[in-house]
Amino acid sequence: MALGWFEEKLYREVRQSFAVSKILHRAQSEHQDVVVFENPVYGRVLALDGVVQVTQKDEYVYHEMMSHVPILAHGKAKDVLIVGGGDGGILREVLRHRSVKSATLVEIDRSVVDMCRKWMPSVSAGAFDDKRADIVIADGAAFVAKTDKRFDVIIVDSTDPVGPGEVLFAARFYKACKRCLKPGGILVNQNGVPFLQPGEIPMTVRRRRKAFKVASFYMAAVPSYYGGLMALGWATDDAKAADVPLAMLRKRFAAARLKTHYYTPELHRASFALPAFVADLVP
Ligand code: SAM
Repeated sequence: MALGWFEEKLYREVRQSFAVSKILHRAQSEHQDVVVFENPVYGRVLALDGVVQVTQKDEYVYHEMMSHVPILAHGKAKDVLIVGGGDGGILREVLRHRSVKSATLVEIDRSVVDMCRKWMPSVSAGAFDDKRADIVIADGAAFVAKTDKRFDVIIVDSTDPVGPGEVLFAARFYKACKRCLKPGGILVNQNGVPFLQPGEIPMTVRRRRKAFKVASFYMAAVPSYYGGLMALGWATDDAKAADVPLAMLRKRFAAARLKTHYYTPELHRASFALPAFVADLVP
């Protein structure tokens, strides 16, 4: 029996609603409104400032594609930076790679980590306690501006470009990420659903191109980020990184011994094929 409905208000003219069977947590943190509720289809759902961030039932799509595509394309990733990602889903997937020696997660809102550990433990699945994990509570933009750490892969698992997440879409941020990447490093970022957020495609390409030779996208179908395929930003100086031969991806995937529910080496390659309307949005 539904307690009522959670209505997501990311867009002015379209909304998605979730029947709420239970509210597990609700609070105003220092940075944003945090709610965790239960829905019969998606399981437990985390929403920040009224926008769905992660759901128990479909989180594997986004977390696998944001983690395994850059790490398996890179081939020798040891040090990974995750900006945002306070639910721990990306951290979990990154740490499944035994080749990864350190995963630094920089999350601005401690309450998101605390709430997800408590109410959505299946998402992080113990990753926060992995000895290779370093959890930093800070603004990701400030962190990349001053850290002397260097990374092979940077994964920007941020909220949308509003509120605290806005700085994670700035040219200055991408430039600072480039500074923190080792040669051959790869940056991926949450880049919205082009059908409903078309402006985010040219916006991040122009800004990422200021720091990287290659700034493009790959796609994933995340049910709870509704409106069609989601764009994931891809930036690197290594033009070949987005075109690793299938045989090599299969070899690396087998060596990593990953059990996945969405990612496959074939889909890895196919995800870089953009729908025409998305390609047309790239300046
Ligand atoms: N997968 C989700 C998506 O695609 O929209 C994002 C999930 S994760 C919960 C987003 C996280 O980014 C939130 O926990 C939020 O607190 C964090 N965040 C927002 N702005 C930030 C900033 N400037 N520095 C670090 N973390 C930030």
